Amino acid sequence: MRRKNERLSLDGHSARPPAIAVTSDRAERALSQRGLQFTPLRRQILDMLIEAGRPLGAYDLLARQRERAGKPFAPTQIYRVLDVLQAAGLIHRLATQGTYVVCDHEHAAGETPVFLVCGACGSVAEAASTAVEQEVEAVAAASGFKPIHPVVEVEGRCAACRAGP
Ligand SMILES: [Zn+2]
Ligand SMILES: [Zn+2]
Repeated sequence: MRRKNERLSLDGHSARPPAIAVTSDRAERALSQRGLQFTPLRRQILDMLIEAGRPLGAYDLLARQRERAGKPFAPTQIYRVLDVLQAAGLIHRLATQGTYVVCDHEHAAGETPVFLVCGACGSVAEAASTAVEQEVEAVAAASGFKPIHPVVEVEGRCAACRAGP
């Protein structure tokens, strides 16, 4: 079953288009490859992250959901869904911020996402690198460590802030 990507408008006035190519099709495909379904709750949480267009924490998601009609989520439900979406490669977790962001790449195997986090404006850009993945694997292997969700976060200044006043 194919559905068009549904983007829910939460507050009716944020029409900012998400710069992020996660679609319902991609989500359904990624989940079904793992024998999982795109349940209404998974869809709702993914939609909220797509709509936000920026990283959100679990409690941001709870607050946004509370603004909507419907049964409130339990925090444990949210974390379970976030784990599933993360395992399916649809979102990434930014450990330093405790937030989750939709993945705007469909990563090839062996690619580590690299997040460029601007400490001035808070923008987060995602890049990906196979060279980083190999280095991370090598460094981890030297300690007998197996990376599961390798993510690199680099704090700095984005191009706009560097060019600013
Ligand atoms: Zn990604
Ligand atoms: Zn910036």
